[in-house]
Amino acid sequence: MGDEFDDLLAANAAYAADFKGGDFDGIAHAGVAIVTCMDSRIDPLRMLGLHHGDAKIFRNPGGRVTPQAVEALVLGVHLLNVNRILVIPHTRCAMTASTQEELRERVGRSAGQDAAWQEFDVVEDQMAALEEDVAKIRSHPLIPHSVKVGGFLYDVDTGRLERML
Ligand SMILES: [Zn+2]
Repeated sequence: MGDEFDDLLAANAAYAADFKGGDFDGIAHAGVAIVTCMDSRIDPLRMLGLHHGDAKIFRNPGGRVTPQAVEALVLGVHLLNVNRILVIPHTRCAMTASTQEELRERVGRSAGQDAAWQEFDVVEDQMAALEEDVAKIRSHPLIPHSVKVGGFLYDVDTGRLERML
């Protein structure tokens, strides 16, 4: 094996040296689950005043409520203490700024080969997608009405979160 990850492993060694999380459980201590984008401008815990262990976080390109996100939310609600769910797409998201064709072209150029077969789940209308995603959770037979579900928009320029739904 090469040394490509050595910097990260060294950082981990320092982290583990005074690690005290051995008896930490895997529930969401603040009862919060978050579905948001993979965008590195988003710091899901800190932007909500939460800490390590407080929330279940599911991220993907665009912050969409995909079948796997639903799977995570159902597990979160029934087994991991989740009672509030936030769906958080954001401003200036690459998944809203491009068409699937454009992404295939850009990735194809980077890869030096055809990428036309790769699916990119682009979002044409961000608010319509958020409505659909929130409705999908609220109407899910395994997510009880006692669980609060909100749709939000995170502004990557101001750090502000606005409730939309
Ligand atoms: Zn994004």
